[in-house]
Amino acid sequence: MSTEHLPPTGSIKVVKPKKAAKLVERVARDTEDPAVPTERLLIVLDIDGTVLLEDESLSPGVVDAVAHAHRAGHEVMIATGRSWEGTRGIMRVLQIAPEFVVCSNGAVVLKRLDGDELQYERWHIETFDPSVVLAQLREHLPDARYLVELPDGRRLYTEYLDDWNLIQARRVPFEELDEQPVCRVVVVAPEQGEQDFVDLVDRIGLNQVSYAVGWTAWLDIAPQGVDKSTALERVRIELGFDPAHVLVIGDGRNDVGMFRWALENGGRAVAMEQGPQEVKDAAGETTTSVQAGGVAEVLRRL
Ligand SMILES: [Mg+2]
Repeated sequence: MSTEHLPPTGSIKVVKPKKAAKLVERVARDTEDPAVPTERLLIVLDIDGTVLLEDESLSPGVVDAVAHAHRAGHEVMIATGRSWEGTRGIMRVLQIAPEFVVCSNGAVVLKRLDGDELQYERWHIETFDPSVVLAQLREHLPDARYLVELPDGRRLYTEYLDDWNLIQARRVPFEELDEQPVCRVVVVAPEQGEQDFVDLVDRIGLNQVSYAVGWTAWLDIAPQGVDKSTALERVRIELGFDPAHVLVIGDGRNDVGMFRWALENGGRAVAMEQGPQEVKDAAGETTTSVQAGGVAEVLRRL
C-alpha cells in the first residue's frame, strides 16, 4: 500500500483493511458495553427550598430540566424530609416516577412496584423509641406541637398545624406519642425562630437520635445514625450506580449528610444559594437560589 498521500509527520498508523474492520468492530462493541463508563448519573433532589419555593410553587425551569436529564439517561430521584403523603404529589408535578424515593429524612425508603399503575411500597424503614427525646423536648418546649410518624406511614399529632399535610394523621394526647416505635418525630414551636431551635438543640444535647432544624423552624428527629445519606447508599447499591456517579442538590441542614456522602465518594454536591452558610460550606459548589431556578441551572449543564 502506498503512503505517499499521507502527511510526513504525525502518528498515523496505516493498517490493512481487515485490521481496520476489526478496530471499527471493537469501537462499536465498547460503545454498547455497560462496563465502559457512560457517566449515567444518580441525581438526587431535595424538595423544599430546592425544587419548591416556600409557597409550594415550582422553581423556574425545574420540570423541563428534569425531563432533559431523563432524556440524557440519568436517574432523577427525590430525597426529602417530607413524609410519603407529602411527597407523592410533588413527584407527579415533576413528572417523575423513579424506582426509589427517600422520605422522612432517610428513615423511609419507598420502591416502585411493577405494573401499570404508579404505586410504591415501603421498602426500607428505620425506627426508634421516641420516649426519651419527647420527654426532653417537652421539658424545654412545653407549648410546642408534635407529630410522630409510625412505620406503616400513619401519623399521630398533638395539635393542628396549617402547613402540616395531615392525610392519614390522627390527633392524640401527647402521652400517646411514645407508645410505639416511630420513624421520626417532628416538633414545631411557632414562637421560636430557626436560630432558637439550633441553640436549644445545642443546649439540651440530643443523644441517641439524629436531628435537623429546618428553614421554617421545625425540628425533625430521626433514628440515630440515619439521614438522607444512609438511605441513599442503600438505593445506590440496589441500582448499581458507581459511587462517583452521584449528584445531589439541596438547601438545608438535613442535606449536609448527603452532601458529605456524595463528596466523599467522588460525586457532586450542590447547595442552593439561599441556604444557611454552614450548608453551603458543606457542599462542593453552590448554584443560584430556588427562586432563580438553581436546579435547572445545574441540570441543563449536564
Ligand atoms: Mg430543603
